[in-house]
Amino acid sequence: MSHYPQACIDLEAVRHNLQQVRQWAPQSQVMSVIKADAYGHGVLPVATALADSDAFAVARLAEGIALRQDGIKKPITVLEGFSDLAELQCMAQYQLTPVIHQSRHIDLLLNTPLAQSLPFCWLMLETGMHRLGLPATAVSENVAKLLAQPQRIAALGLMSHFANSDLLNDVRNAKQLAEMRQLAEQTDLPVCMANSAAVISLPDAHKQWVRPGLMLYGVSPFADKTGAQLGLKPVMQLRSKLIAINDLKPGDEVGYGGQWIASKAGRMGVVSIGYGDGFNRHLSNQGAVFIRGQTLPVIGRVSMDTICIDLQDCSTAEIGDEVILWGNAALTVEWQANQAGTIAYELLCGLTPRVTRKYHHGKS
Ligand SMILES: *Cc1c(COP(=O)(O)O)cnc(C)c1O
Repeated sequence: MSHYPQACIDLEAVRHNLQQVRQWAPQSQVMSVIKADAYGHGVLPVATALADSDAFAVARLAEGIALRQDGIKKPITVLEGFSDLAELQCMAQYQLTPVIHQSRHIDLLLNTPLAQSLPFCWLMLETGMHRLGLPATAVSENVAKLLAQPQRIAALGLMSHFANSDLLNDVRNAKQLAEMRQLAEQTDLPVCMANSAAVISLPDAHKQWVRPGLMLYGVSPFADKTGAQLGLKPVMQLRSKLIAINDLKPGDEVGYGGQWIASKAGRMGVVSIGYGDGFNRHLSNQGAVFIRGQTLPVIGRVSMDTICIDLQDCSTAEIGDEVILWGNAALTVEWQANQAGTIAYELLCGLTPRVTRKYHHGKS
């Protein structure tokens, strides 16, 4: 029995991409970001492949607990931190590293007896993103208060996050960097700022720790470059199969709403993948697929389980042919995301559990 669609995941490529991170930022420790099920790639196999990381980061407490229950021993940062006392106790119990991004967190920490001390905490500082971050005032006071409580927190670091690191030479990046430098000078704590785009384009932001996500999956954070152009290897190849081929007469309407109409006689194919698998519906009449060495357009609307493709220029296609949706040199997830009016992050995270993940090392 064949299980299609499949996301074929190359764990050797993951390791290659981690090596690339180390080459871009040779002085820094690497916190590999594996939130959202490792950007849709499957968190446990990816974490195992990334065993050489110095630490991991996830977004939520539940993601951190799941990794501990699966036996991951490395430091695990929880980027969203904790929201109440019970979550804080859980952080300590599972020896997770919270990000503290509100003064409320500091109050909770200083006023709660913890069964175990937290191994580390990151103070997320506001430098321009205006999302999660402590105001950039009273930093040294807060640090002093927390470090005075070694029975609660063993060690501290400073974090911030760029809002525009994917934009090369944007003056706002320099401003955030300058702001952070000024804050970091008030303490001698380790600093962690750089996501993938900053690892590649802002060496001044590398500091003691970098925390890349996207580039580990072989994907470019920049709109005008592919992962391959940056020396990265795509990790995921999304595949399915051609399950039907139909003849079309001029004027035939394809799919819901008749959003594509044949202008001449020809053939169209049906591929077993749809938005129920995470194939973004904005790829209706915009996306492409790769069959028998050719890139062919998606025609009409993406359905829940299927898409239709134009076989006009591919007379040899047969039912059962393998179809690549993204993840080879001719059809990248970056390109497909751009066609959908979104970013590769969303396409990767959007794959649903119905897509089988299949793991291999190197050539598949
Ligand atoms: C997701 C995330 C990252 C990783 O960003 P990439 O662009 O995928 O490298 C780093 N830091 C924070 C705070 C994040 O939320």
